[in-house]
This record gives sequence, C-alpha cells and structure tokens, in this order.
Amino acid sequence: MHYRKIIAQLKDRLRKLFSAAAEGLPVILSWAFQKLIFLKNGLMHLFLTIRGKGFHMPDRGDTEPEVPSGSSSQRKILISRCLYGGEEPVRYDGRRIPLENSILLKWKEENRLVPVCPEVDGGLSVPRPPSERSGRNVICLDGTDVTSAYREGSVHALQLAREHHVAFAVMKEKSPACGSSLIHDGHFNGTLIHGEGTTVEILRNAGIIVFSEKELPEAAEFLALLETEGENGLKEEIPWRPGIMKGYKK
Ligand code: SF4
Repeated sequence: MHYRKIIAQLKDRLRKLFSAAAEGLPVILSWAFQKLIFLKNGLMHLFLTIRGKGFHMPDRGDTEPEVPSGSSSQRKILISRCLYGGEEPVRYDGRRIPLENSILLKWKEENRLVPVCPEVDGGLSVPRPPSERSGRNVICLDGTDVTSAYREGSVHALQLAREHHVAFAVMKEKSPACGSSLIHDGHFNGTLIHGEGTTVEILRNAGIIVFSEKELPEAAEFLALLETEGENGLKEEIPWRPGIMKGYKK
C-alpha cells in the first residue's frame, strides 16, 4: 500500500514535469532557431573573410562600371549593380550573380542601364557583415550602426538617377538599401516584412518609379508605353494600370 502511494506521487510529479516542458518547448525552439541563424551568419562572414581576399574597401572611382553612352533618344534605367552582372562583386557575401535575364540583357545591349550600389558607394566593404533596416536606422549583424553609409549611398543613387534622367529604376528585392516591397525585419532571423530599402525610399520620394527584379515584364511594358505614348500618354494610362504605376507621381 505504501509503495503504491509513492509510485502514484512519482507519476503525478513526472506528469507535471512533462506538461511544464511541453508548454515551454515552442519558446525554447524559437530561441534556439534564432541563435542558429545568428551563428550561421557569423560563420559565413568569417569564412568569406578568411577565404578571400579579406576585407577590401572598394574605391567608388575604381569599381563603378563605366556607363556606356548609347543613343540619346533611349531612356536610361537605374539598376542595382548586383543585378547588372559586372566583373566587380558588390554583394555583402562577395558573390557575383550572372546576368541571364533576357530583358536585362537587351537593355544592357541597348546601353540603357545605369548601375549603382548604394552600400559600396556609401563606403562599405566587400564582403561585409549583413545589415538590416531597424526603423529609420540600418544596423549590421555585429551591432554597428551603418545608417550614414546607407544615407550617403542612397543620395548618390538619386544624383545618378537625375543626371541620367532615368525612366525608372530596377532594384534588388529584400535589400536594406534596394528592397522595393520586402525587407528583413531587423532581427537577423530571416523574417521578411513589407517595407522599402533606404535608396528606394529616397528614389520614390523624388517621384522615381521603382520595380524589383521580379517585375521585369511590368517594367518592360512601362518602358514600351513611355516610348510610344510619351509622358502625357502615360498619364492617361495610369488609372488603368495601378500595378505597374506604383510610386508614380503625376
Ligand atoms: S542590393 Fe543594392 S546595395 Fe545590395 S549589393 Fe545589390 S546594389 Fe548593392
């Protein structure tokens, strides 16, 4: 009888212990997941730094690809330099993305593209720790505030857009500078939120239309309209095409 009582008490304690652990499990798993992502980003950055070339601070004059002159009747297009397929890597992880999209290849062939990398133009190195927007600021994985570099690079992009009277911009989605509808949430855990990068915000505030690399057919349609109908004809079209006209200021 005495043994039965002890076993019953033990069972009761074990049951309470398991139910407490089950309640805390999602919190523990989410904490562990965030730490794993943090560790992965840190290791990747360390690997890139050791493998390569180490940190290198590109000079704006050295790395900016020359913009070919092209025909003056053709409208220019501002483009994130990591989409342009240039020789010089500019991405935070030092990777080059080959230029394979037929629309971009055509525009490059027509000398329309004006490449810009706000992060490098703002003075950041290649490779560099990943950064994310956190409210009005931009913060590196290591906690450094890089807002002023992003501001400088974004202002440079706007100057370039104005100098070349660009028809619109095509910017790399999810970047803290170039994202046009999605960016990371500032916690370095892979979560995306609706929002704009610093450069896209400045460009749109200045009335420049921005497409992402996922919206190239819409951008091509916009360019065709602009070149056949002209600015005035385009304004007539705007109410009928809200999808491709987002950010357009009449
Ligand atoms: S997304 Fe923009 S800032 Fe980032 S590497 Fe590409 S061009 Fe540079």
